[in-house]
Amino acid sequence: MTLQELWKSILSELQLTVSHHHYNMFFSNTEIISASNNTMVIGCGSDWSKSEINKKYKNEIQILLQNKTGVMYNIELVLFESLKDNSKNTDSRGKLNNLPLFNNIATKQEAVNYQQQVQAPQQTHQQNFNRGLISDYTFENFVIGPNNRLAYTVAKTIAENPGGTYNPFLIYSNVGLGKTHLIQAIGNEIQKTNPNLKVLYCTGQEFVDELMEQLQTRRSRGGTISDFKKKYTGIDVWLIDDVQIIAGRDTTQEEFYFAFNSLYLNKKQIVLSSDRHPSEIAKLEDRISSRFRMGMIADIQMPDVDIRTAILRTKRDKLSLNIDNNTIDYISQNVETNVRELEGALIQVATYCSVNNLIPNENIAKEVLGNSIIRREEKNIRPTKVIQEVSKFYGIEIREIKGKTRTKNIVLPRQITMYMLKELNQLPLKTIGDILGGRDHTTIMHGTEKISKELENGNLKLKKELSTIKDKIFE
Ligand code: ADP
Ligand code: MG
Repeated sequence: MTLQELWKSILSELQLTVSHHHYNMFFSNTEIISASNNTMVIGCGSDWSKSEINKKYKNEIQILLQNKTGVMYNIELVLFESLKDNSKNTDSRGKLNNLPLFNNIATKQEAVNYQQQVQAPQQTHQQNFNRGLISDYTFENFVIGPNNRLAYTVAKTIAENPGGTYNPFLIYSNVGLGKTHLIQAIGNEIQKTNPNLKVLYCTGQEFVDELMEQLQTRRSRGGTISDFKKKYTGIDVWLIDDVQIIAGRDTTQEEFYFAFNSLYLNKKQIVLSSDRHPSEIAKLEDRISSRFRMGMIADIQMPDVDIRTAILRTKRDKLSLNIDNNTIDYISQNVETNVRELEGALIQVATYCSVNNLIPNENIAKEVLGNSIIRREEKNIRPTKVIQEVSKFYGIEIREIKGKTRTKNIVLPRQITMYMLKELNQLPLKTIGDILGGRDHTTIMHGTEKISKELENGNLKLKKELSTIKDKIFE
């Protein structure tokens, strides 16, 4: 595994989350220049790309690197230009080439071999950027359980008969639970069995960015956005990941509605993913929300411990990792956030053992994962769950919490909901206002402060109620 290869695999992941347009602007001329124990130096071709990456993408890169190497690197960005004089070990652009990763933390060939295995799937990606598909995401390597069976079954049926019974199809779940995997698997399967069909995968963000770019071009050059329209109407299967992002944007929703309708009326398959149920997406136009609900909707939940174990065993076998079942059990019992972090933990333990020439066991896993053992994290709780539990606890309706009534028995639970959405979900006040029936952010601020004060003043009854509700939420 060389740094170049590592960077290539990071880029291929970034391509999934960064819009095509931004990707080309900021990442097309970048490379890892060097890696020390804890610093990764990334070279950029322009000042602009350097500062944009620094501002917007550094954290994501850091996490991707950690997932792949098990090391949390500091990221340093430099201009290629500024390296010109360091001629030793560099090519004409001033970059170090083919430096083995872990050169300085492991002399063992095994460590390098191991990294090659871990990275192997990334290197075999046959990415078709027009269609946005990554060949690794298939039905074959998707582990099925009660938590995702419905979503899987519908996805599989669609892949066999696109534009058939389930159209549109919307999958929703918290992050890291397999939406992108499933949606991509549909595309890959169709491409394999029906190569003549035009499949387009895009994220909601890409759709927004591309539209904005077209509108800008139109404004400055007086053209039309017909190319954009053509692109989205000339396809057979449209896979839109994280569609919730289009909410609250009038022009985007208008164009989306147009594309959606013309595909739908022509019996083309549409598959969407979202981080929540359409009814919970604030500022999504009714006409779009009702389109989403017209077809099939399935959610994916966190897999239980048995499925988590199965996922890790599959991953272990695929990567031929030398990790015994006890260690796998330890990881699956303790990582309760999402599948992405579950996989990350497995790789972290395997990398640590490989680099230090150890045979993995439960104790080592404990040590390596240590504090980073990621239990059900508060940020992964869905806002509806919070509202639901508050309403259940106080025996009032959800619509009352969201409504306008100002009687005391409603106002307090409403303020508690505000407080919990802020503390547990860490939502911005404005978003909380949107969720709670379109309230102003100052109202939310007032509500959350009221509860904070009560707690500070030692209101034990309230404290106890909050803690009971919290337990229910995390149950
Ligand atoms: P989301 O799009 O919901 O945030 P992803 O599809 O990106 O989640 O999934 C995160 C990671 O977990 C991916 O590497 C994916 O392959 C893996 N994953 C999720 N669910 C499963 C599953 N049921 N079987 C195998 N791998 C899974
Ligand atoms: Mg995703």
